[in-house]
Amino acid sequence: MWKNEIAREIENIDIINLDTHGNSNMISHFINQFKICNSVYWCLNKGYTQQNKNNIRKWNEILHTTEDKGLWEKINTLTFHATLDSKLRTFQYKLVRRILPTNIQLKLYGIKENDVCDLCRNEIETYEHLFCDCEISGQLIADMVQWFHPYLVIQQNLIPKKILLGYTEIPCLDTANLINTLMIITKYFIYKCKCKNILPTFRQLKLEIKLKYLLEKDSHHFRTREKWKPIEPILTAFE
Ligand SMILES: [Zn+2]
Repeated sequence: MWKNEIAREIENIDIINLDTHGNSNMISHFINQFKICNSVYWCLNKGYTQQNKNNIRKWNEILHTTEDKGLWEKINTLTFHATLDSKLRTFQYKLVRRILPTNIQLKLYGIKENDVCDLCRNEIETYEHLFCDCEISGQLIADMVQWFHPYLVIQQNLIPKKILLGYTEIPCLDTANLINTLMIITKYFIYKCKCKNILPTFRQLKLEIKLKYLLEKDSHHFRTREKWKPIEPILTAFE
């Protein structure tokens, strides 16, 4: 039953309409379908984290992060601060909870025959490979960082922890929100391309970022609009 749900989710990712249907996880589904308020989000996050300490342990092993409760509270909630977009929130939520299906899990569940990366076809498709080590994703992220430089300075030597889990140490809230939003958009775009078996292009990523900017620039939420200000000249000029 749950295998069919995951398979259906992969099939239903719609790159044109930026839509996802049939989420395999009840909480993700809930977040995706409703404009939930702060208190509900915190409750869900808190409860779910307590039940899934193994995920945190796994990240700590792979990325050499720590058990620091404060750090994980920031990681769990930074997406909520970064963007109002429910699809981006759901995507990052699944990634942090390690419930976003990649080929390594799909092979394990018997849904796919091999676990090789759909983009480069060279390595096993773990989260770390797909979003950090894959040469195709790496080039895309480097191009994105370069596009906004020097209007927005994103650390050139990106470490996997920041790419995967987000930037938790930037003192300026608007800058942190902007960088985290751009990283989530880029990862989401990479993931959608991988699911559709197409190679991501930088031109298409630029369009995706511009689309999110257009959706958020007139938001009623002050922080959501403000964060885009440093890179507005670049986005406005891009057609
Ligand atoms: Zn790859």
